[in-house]
Amino acid sequence: MTTSASVPAGSESPIAGDGTVTDRLVEANARYAAAFTDPGMDARPVRHVAVVACMDARLDLHAALGLNLGDCHTIRNAGGVVTDDVIRSLTISQRALGTRSVVLIHHTGCGLESLTEEFRHELEMEVGQRPSWAVESFRDVDQDVRQSMKRVRTSPFLLHTDDVRGFVFDVKTGLLREVDPA
Ligand SMILES: [Zn+2]
Repeated sequence: MTTSASVPAGSESPIAGDGTVTDRLVEANARYAAAFTDPGMDARPVRHVAVVACMDARLDLHAALGLNLGDCHTIRNAGGVVTDDVIRSLTISQRALGTRSVVLIHHTGCGLESLTEEFRHELEMEVGQRPSWAVESFRDVDQDVRQSMKRVRTSPFLLHTDDVRGFVFDVKTGLLREVDPA
């Protein structure tokens, strides 16, 4: 499978400049669907693995990990942090859809490294309401990966916590570096 990650934005069809970015996505989907054939797979990931990763635009999980359509669950958010909602997804992934392994991927140059919990305070000052969620900002990416591994391993809702590994993806080299859980 290919992804759009290898196509620089704005490199195709400059004539079709009208409309929004979403219009461009819908057009791309029409082309995708035209060449699509039903792979005939069910919803259970073939490799029984769930990948939790940062939403960073430079991280193409399928390409970076050699994954194909149907292979895994991908759960992404800002930072790739293990929030209650990530635990919710992992719980469904394991209990309803048969995954057994968890891979956590954070990365170099993450936007969360430049934020602090002060961000919540600033939001409150601006909109008059404090968000219920933590920003989950961090200074040390390795420590943040360890924290995430620990949250997965100690969750009472998960069936499988023996194969949980954490990595830092280098956005400049494309290489993963494993983080020692200790
Ligand atoms: Zn990030």
